[in-house]
Amino acid sequence: MQTFKALVVESGDPYTAQIRQARLDELPPGEVLVRVAYSSLNYKDGLAITGAGKVIRNFPMVPGIDLAGTVLESASPEYKPGDPVILTGWGVGERHWGGLSELARVRGEWLVPLPEGLTLKQAMGIGTAGFTAMLAVMALEAHSIDPAREVLVTGAAGGVGSLAVALLAQRGYRVVASTGRLSEETYLKSLGASEILDRAVLSAPGKPLESERFGGAVDTVGGAVLAGVLPRMAYGGSVAACGNAGGAKLETTVFPFILRGVNLLGIDSVMCPKEKRLLAWQRLARELPKPLLEATLQTVSLEEVPVLAQAILQGRVRGRVVVKLD
Ligand code: NDP
Repeated sequence: MQTFKALVVESGDPYTAQIRQARLDELPPGEVLVRVAYSSLNYKDGLAITGAGKVIRNFPMVPGIDLAGTVLESASPEYKPGDPVILTGWGVGERHWGGLSELARVRGEWLVPLPEGLTLKQAMGIGTAGFTAMLAVMALEAHSIDPAREVLVTGAAGGVGSLAVALLAQRGYRVVASTGRLSEETYLKSLGASEILDRAVLSAPGKPLESERFGGAVDTVGGAVLAGVLPRMAYGGSVAACGNAGGAKLETTVFPFILRGVNLLGIDSVMCPKEKRLLAWQRLARELPKPLLEATLQTVSLEEVPVLAQAILQGRVRGRVVVKLD
């Protein structure tokens, strides 16, 4: 395969994202050449493909922060041709050509072997979104959330949100799903949400402390929504902050922290160390019910990605988008 199909972003005026044939010698250095079977579309890919956010560090760039495929060539002792592998984060699709391509050349240490029990497609149904949701669940559990209390998920109909709802419900928590799309009630309840909370309730101006309600929260929205989550946390509760789909600014008071001992936990999936990565993927393979994962998925072609990149930034994509490349 001397040439291969890839989505290539150029930074000129206009900023473009076009599918073209790329050459093997255009690929960046790395020990492992992967035949990509699936990638996925995340909020960050939407920013990269449209140029709405300064996600890409050098051009031309193949976006795609996730990929799953089969090793074609390897100079890494850890991998051999034929091995199924996945990759999320590490700046792939931002500084290093990414997954929205039939081929990718990457560093061996960035890869994770496909965990037993998952197909390549399911792995990309999970992707960075599901991996982040699992990191959030692990962070909450490390802070002993009260099982008798409800757990809140914001941006619940999005990728991270949907999978956080499914994972938390599977673990037996009573999950409250906050969304701006109340029409997604049936979908969110099918993933295990017990109750739907209108996003507007959280983002409306309120008091520094509201009634204690949630033992834990996974916040994918940031901004005014996160500012509305903190005052509603119960004593000793924890919020895993992982996104900024609704804004990066956080205006709050110290009262939830100093009067209720609330914890604000930061979640980063990109540079997550390998050991924790392997653990999170093993748990995802074991704990995320496959029918629920399938319910969140739509599979699209590379050609459909540029339009969906706009849609994901407008909050119009439900659940997860898997991009088929082989
Ligand atoms: P999605 O677009 O799939 O989901 C985001 C959801 O947020 C939407 O579905 C919508 O949910 C809600 N939302 C969107 N726009 C707004 C808005 N203007 N105001 C309030 N709510 C809004 O994105 P992902 O799930 O891929 O990512 C979610 C967030 O998490 C992003 O900010 C992303 O950058 C971040 N992220 C961070 C990671 C990390 O390592 N920390 C890793 C992965 C993602 P609804 O319709 O239900 O209200």
